[in-house]
Amino acid sequence: MKKAFVTKEQIEEIVKTYPTPFHIYDEKGIRENVKALKEAFAWNRGYKEFFAVKATPNPYLIQILREYGCGCDCSSLTELMVSSAMGVTGEDIMFSSNDTPAHEFAYAEKLGAIINLDDITHIDFLEKTIGYIPKTISCRFNPGGYFSVANSIMDNPGDAKYGFTTEQMFEGFRILKNKGAENFGIHAFLASNTVSNEYYPELARQLFELAVKLKEETGANITFINLSGGIGIPYKPDDVPNDIRIIGEGVRKAYEKILVPAGMGEVAIYTELGRYMMGPFGHLITQAIHEKHTHKEYIGVDACAVNLMRPAIYGAYHHITVLGKENEPCAYKYDVTGSLCENNDKFAIDRMLPKVEIGDYLAIHDTGAHGFAMGYNYNGKLKSAELLLKEDGSVQMIRRAETPKDYFATFDCLDIYNKLDFEA
Ligand SMILES: *Cc1c(COP(=O)(O)O)cnc(C)c1O
Repeated sequence: MKKAFVTKEQIEEIVKTYPTPFHIYDEKGIRENVKALKEAFAWNRGYKEFFAVKATPNPYLIQILREYGCGCDCSSLTELMVSSAMGVTGEDIMFSSNDTPAHEFAYAEKLGAIINLDDITHIDFLEKTIGYIPKTISCRFNPGGYFSVANSIMDNPGDAKYGFTTEQMFEGFRILKNKGAENFGIHAFLASNTVSNEYYPELARQLFELAVKLKEETGANITFINLSGGIGIPYKPDDVPNDIRIIGEGVRKAYEKILVPAGMGEVAIYTELGRYMMGPFGHLITQAIHEKHTHKEYIGVDACAVNLMRPAIYGAYHHITVLGKENEPCAYKYDVTGSLCENNDKFAIDRMLPKVEIGDYLAIHDTGAHGFAMGYNYNGKLKSAELLLKEDGSVQMIRRAETPKDYFATFDCLDIYNKLDFEA
């Protein structure tokens, strides 16, 4: 059974200061999880996790991970800016971007970030932009086809816009070496949200074999292999969670079988996990404000898809706990909806829940990654606050809620701005 990390009593206290809806994050869970990740890869001397900033771009949360030696995986100008402002620079930043604008390459280079190229044409593009090829450089690999483990398909890299083909990896390494690159990395992200202990070990096997060939054929000095993101979380109550120790062991076995005999036993393993680091440790807390009995039974809440887009765009399942009713039978079938003028604005469809009454608080689970971050402003809806539930039980606001002033800020060049009623 999935349990919320907050109780009804805690939320009733919190809403006296911070009205719903809001995202709340569990500091204790984040710390325990990152510790377990580090232990699972402790066998590799150079191991480092570069947290995928896009998943949860909040400096307070990233700072927690910093205490465990994590760097930042950035993919845009503003993600680089927030990392830099936190004092994360140099080789603590992995810049894994695609379709990259020139000024973003330039800023990444200025910060001394490791640049992970998405395409062979970006070699020239980068050289023209910054005037040279950095000594340390990484290339993103995409073998095409399907990614499968034990005959079951996990994802479809052949349909993904990212990365170099196999031939391009060899050609790219040769070109980069001729242009002065000295330390090489290999990166690949071939399946997303894998709830399987087999994904990383299988990916590692493929990348390690490629690394050995690349070294033999191009003479490149490969210093790291980046397994990127993709370790998933159990969104559904009957999903079996990944075991990070088994995953770490699986990668170690492949490392010892393939890299060590090839004289590559110094290669560092990097990861760029996002969802796995934060996903389970966030809830969207929202209050039931309407009930509607028409062709279906509806519960209307004060959050909407602006606060959590995944159900609307992917049909993703997010578990819901009606706080204070954890032990009541789930005997009522509801669509749980937000207020957008979009029929896909539903957090759950035909979901069995305890009887929901107006005023009840609902915890929508697993919003700690790709939750708040994906938010938008459709219907002029404002983004919520983010709160941190600290280990001592206290609550800190780590991002305030948007106000109409934030929403209209880009009108400040127009007459209309001064006519807006900000008292509304
Ligand atoms: C999104 C992304 C990640 C993180 O993915 P998760 O599924 O959150 O682990 C890592 N690396 C790159 C390049 C990404 O685009």
